[in-house]
Amino acid sequence: MMERFTGSFTQQEPIPEEGIEAAIAVLRHGRLHRYNTIAGEVSETALLEEEFAALTGAKYCLAVASGGYAMGCALRAVGVKAGDPVLSNAFTLAPVPGAIAALGAHPVLVEVTEDLTIDLAHLEAQAQASGARVLLLSHMRGHVCDMEALMALCDRLGVTVIEDCAHTMGATWRGIPSGRHGKVAAYSMQTYKHINSGEGGFLITDDAEIAARAILLSGSYMLYARHRAAPPPEVFEGIRLDTPNVSGRMDNLRAAILRPQLRLLADRVARWGDLYRALEAGLDATPSLRLIPRPAHEVYVGSSFQFLLPDWSPGRIKALIARCAARGVELKWFGAPDPVAFTSRYDHWRYADPAPLPRTDRILAGLIDMRVPLTFSSADCALIARIIRAEVLAVQQSGEEAAEAVPLAD
Ligand SMILES: *Cc1c(COP(=O)(O)O)cnc(C)c1O
Repeated sequence: MMERFTGSFTQQEPIPEEGIEAAIAVLRHGRLHRYNTIAGEVSETALLEEEFAALTGAKYCLAVASGGYAMGCALRAVGVKAGDPVLSNAFTLAPVPGAIAALGAHPVLVEVTEDLTIDLAHLEAQAQASGARVLLLSHMRGHVCDMEALMALCDRLGVTVIEDCAHTMGATWRGIPSGRHGKVAAYSMQTYKHINSGEGGFLITDDAEIAARAILLSGSYMLYARHRAAPPPEVFEGIRLDTPNVSGRMDNLRAAILRPQLRLLADRVARWGDLYRALEAGLDATPSLRLIPRPAHEVYVGSSFQFLLPDWSPGRIKALIARCAARGVELKWFGAPDPVAFTSRYDHWRYADPAPLPRTDRILAGLIDMRVPLTFSSADCALIARIIRAEVLAVQQSGEEAAEAVPLAD
């Protein structure tokens, strides 16, 4: 009998009871705005920031409305202005070039390697050709480039690095938490990321002036002294009247939901690692399927899984996706030429006027993507891998090609 998978690829775990109770306490007292505190009270938002700063080892942390907001705020805080070129990955999701475009700045996109990381030689060429002084580096799908080489290159070029850690919250590179190499890092707490408040973001940095500017930008009015993971008031003195308010604050309800999840993050990373390795083991040595190598000195978060089908025709890939879907396995493809639903391909960001990137085109044409929610078990992942493997072999044997449209990766 043909095996079928019946789980949901979009079902998250519930909010922990402790978070639900903390959220109800906030609803009962009604002080949801982060600066609405009574004498002696420290807001849930300020405590959350303090706890995330401690977790990452950053001096300063600001909680904001979304990951996209955190990236835009970081770009503004390091001084990006309208018209400036800003380097970024061609292989990333729409909020990344969107954060650059929202400032009136211009994304300069860099090719992706077969390991799904930024191409350092092309980064250097693009930096020199554009004169860009800032890189918004996206650790897309948790694939981290050689961070020592990247930082050495950017230091040599005088390029400031902002890390997009939407997919690496909880990850480490040679023991260093993801987000601690660049000048600033941004994280997302949107439902499909590693801790869930529906929407939300963090910005961390060790730079006092960048932190003060970010806090003012987020809409702190003159209440910044109520922050805890923040520089002292004198740092704000010189800039508080020159920094616009671009409101994007976190609120106490979401902070209350997030604080207990921060304490669960390490455990979640370990569980995601088990799921990822079950998929990897089940797909290992499948003919013509390339797994993405993971360096031994990296702790990654297996909240999604990618593999390459190098040189497969679009028709064959569509046939595979249709066959897997019929058995309950939802695969997404980065190679579909037409933007349907969410779009994740650089050439669909027409506002950025991207030049063709042939190496990225070749890789995206064979790139398959899958969500891995924590509601899956290792046995589920082993079953999913068996289904994919069997269908890869079946499509290869039959030489089947399909014509119908398939969902794009989001
Ligand atoms: C989700 C995501 C973000 C931030 O998204 P928000 O929805 O604004 O929180 C940034 N970069 C990547 C790669 C993402 O997937």
